[in-house]
Amino acid sequence: MGRSTKLFHPFCSLAFKRETRGIAAAWLFAPFSSAARKQLEKKEKRNQCDAPDLEKTALRSSIAETKFLFRKKKKMKRADYPEPIKELIAQLKRMPGIGPRSAERIALWMNQSRDAHPVDIASAIRTASEQVRPCAKCGFFTTATLCEICSDETRCGEQLCVVEQATDILPIERTGVFRGRYHALGGRISPLDHVGPEDLRIDALLNRIAAESPREVILALGADVEGEATANYIAELLRNRPGVTVTRIAQGLPAGVGLETADELTLSRALAGRREVS
Ligand SMILES: [Zn+2]
Repeated sequence: MGRSTKLFHPFCSLAFKRETRGIAAAWLFAPFSSAARKQLEKKEKRNQCDAPDLEKTALRSSIAETKFLFRKKKKMKRADYPEPIKELIAQLKRMPGIGPRSAERIALWMNQSRDAHPVDIASAIRTASEQVRPCAKCGFFTTATLCEICSDETRCGEQLCVVEQATDILPIERTGVFRGRYHALGGRISPLDHVGPEDLRIDALLNRIAAESPREVILALGADVEGEATANYIAELLRNRPGVTVTRIAQGLPAGVGLETADELTLSRALAGRREVS
């Protein structure tokens, strides 16, 4: 520490000790250091002041952007099918068993497929709805006043088969074993569905029996509770009618099925309706 060292100053040639060299350097560079420090402090201060402003600006722009997108979303109309296709889908959806996806698929098929021939389909629908009506006598489908069964003179007039719906006539026809006439009631007595005897074509049946005098009235009604109630109601009405026999179709085992699959009610009815083996 005591050793002295010579150091040349640009303006004077003074000798300094090691201790004084630091002080001298500080003195020499003090103005520069002070200016730099001040500048630095100023910059830091500006940065400190700018930081919240930047955050505020970013926040403000983010809010503005969100508002813009929200407004845009609110105003933005989503693309959909043209109005005629939408109307076609809406009409198809009204059909039984056709859901929204099926309706959309059918509508697009009609519009795009070469094999669709939508004009022919539309024409067939129009013709069927305009020309097909229920038969005035039995209720089956016809384009005239009477259906082909009622118009057929070769049909046996002594047997009258009573069914619930007009659609029940064709399954019996396909068996090929019945050559009589039919009468569709248009439903069955069902208090839960608010369907009473006055809602069915029972009066028409009584008038028909009086006019045509069949020898047998066959009740081909369902085997459920409503079918039983309807059959019992008609049987009661015809109980004291002279010259008319009321029968019900047999109930029992379906063809091609063993006894092990049949329920108790079916088996008991099959036993009650047994017949002599000829
Ligand atoms: Zn008819």
